[in-house]
Amino acid sequence: MKTIETDVLIVGGGIAGAALACALRDSGYWVVLVEQRKGPLDTARGDHLQPCTVDALAKWGVLNRFLERGAGRRVGHEFRSETGETLLKADYSELPIPHPYFLVYHHDLIAETFLEIASEGSNFDLFKPAVAREFKVVDGRIKALKIHANDQEITIKPHIVVGADGSNSIVRSTLNFATFEHPYRHPMVALFGKRPPRLKPENYFFRYSGPEGLVFIQQRMDEQIKLTLPVGPEGIPWWKKSTKEERARVLGLRADSLKCFESEIAGFYPVRMIHAIDYVSGNVVLVGDAAHSIHPARGQGLNMGIASLPTLIRCLPTVADVSSAEKVRQALLQYQKIQKPLSDRIIARNHQAAMDMEMGADEDRATFLKRQNELIREISARPELRRMHLLEATGYPFGAPTEAEPDYLA
Ligand SMILES: Cc1cc2nc3c(=O)[nH]c(=O)nc-3n(C[C@H](O)[C@H](O)[C@H](O)COP(=O)(O)OP(=O)(O)OC[C@H]3O[C@@H](n4cnc5c(N)ncnc54)[C@H](O)[C@@H]3O)c2cc1C
Repeated sequence: MKTIETDVLIVGGGIAGAALACALRDSGYWVVLVEQRKGPLDTARGDHLQPCTVDALAKWGVLNRFLERGAGRRVGHEFRSETGETLLKADYSELPIPHPYFLVYHHDLIAETFLEIASEGSNFDLFKPAVAREFKVVDGRIKALKIHANDQEITIKPHIVVGADGSNSIVRSTLNFATFEHPYRHPMVALFGKRPPRLKPENYFFRYSGPEGLVFIQQRMDEQIKLTLPVGPEGIPWWKKSTKEERARVLGLRADSLKCFESEIAGFYPVRMIHAIDYVSGNVVLVGDAAHSIHPARGQGLNMGIASLPTLIRCLPTVADVSSAEKVRQALLQYQKIQKPLSDRIIARNHQAAMDMEMGADEDRATFLKRQNELIREISARPELRRMHLLEATGYPFGAPTEAEPDYLA
């Protein structure tokens, strides 16, 4: 049996956990990450990094690694009617932000690249695959985690525990964090396929909506596109049985550029909001989907998980103080005080978009979607609404960096 003492134990090496390990490399903290997966993450989940997230990568000194490995830039988005009429066309360079583009990079590669960079640091241990389930909790603090890895039993004794273990977080349930939950009625279906040549510009995202429903088109790496749309009254069995031709016919009614689209089904996703009432308990902090699992209506879940990390890192006690239980408690509570109200506002807006999407998938959706398209035209035409729309889309809902609220920690 082996015992490891560590400053920070991260449970979960998905996007949020891997990003945190990457950001903490060479920070002076000893970091241990435990990840249960043997294989890669599901590639159909979030795969575009908002401009705000790109800025975090640049500040962590890792942006070039993503670009070198083939991440693509997407510089704007267009909302269209089902016939291809432009309702709103926006370029991110309209905003005064340091990186006016999204990075598109496959979901599984995002975590892999973060972990690869983290592993180059000098104070990092990665246990993968290893399941975290045997926690020792004393006075509301996680004092130890026993894992089995590399044919041995290992006891990890952490000062701080970060629960980055996704929407069914075992860290969250072990510490009895209370949650607010909302199940959505319409599951999502994700489809992959080669980019139809008519779909232009190549470096944009698209949203089509018309009487038949909504569809989001993300231009991925490697000339591929990913579609995500809510499953309507036709139900999942229809999609499962459908042929490529049947899907092209249905998708073509929603977006004219998809009339001949050859798609493969990537997966079906029941959607549930799970939002922890508190993010902190004792020496434990929740990040990513463990703290806030949200509807993919606005493509924000993964980005929210990364966006909260710079604040968490700035709140952490110094390396010299990290063994003090009281300093850890105060530091984590300070993080929660800053981050929770920001997350609450983003999640409330996201929920509103999710509810709109629900209505856009209902049987009687045509009138609702017609009204939505009128609203989109209005957003496009009115400068203050257009700006707010763009700020939210790029991950700066509280203003561009130059005009953002003052740094709470300065
Ligand atoms: C269809 C779909 C589309 C989406 N689209 C977008 C999008 O466009 N943009 C966006 O920003 N977000 C999107 N999201 C959301 C995004 O994918 C998630 O918010 C994000 O992946 C969450 O990352 P995470 O690291 O918090 O959790 P996860 O990715 O779930 O990672 C948790 C990790 O913890 C590990 N783990 C769990 N339990 C244990 C344990 N006991 N021991 C050890 N390890 C454990 C898991 O194996 C996993 O690797 C989408 C989601 C879906 C379903």
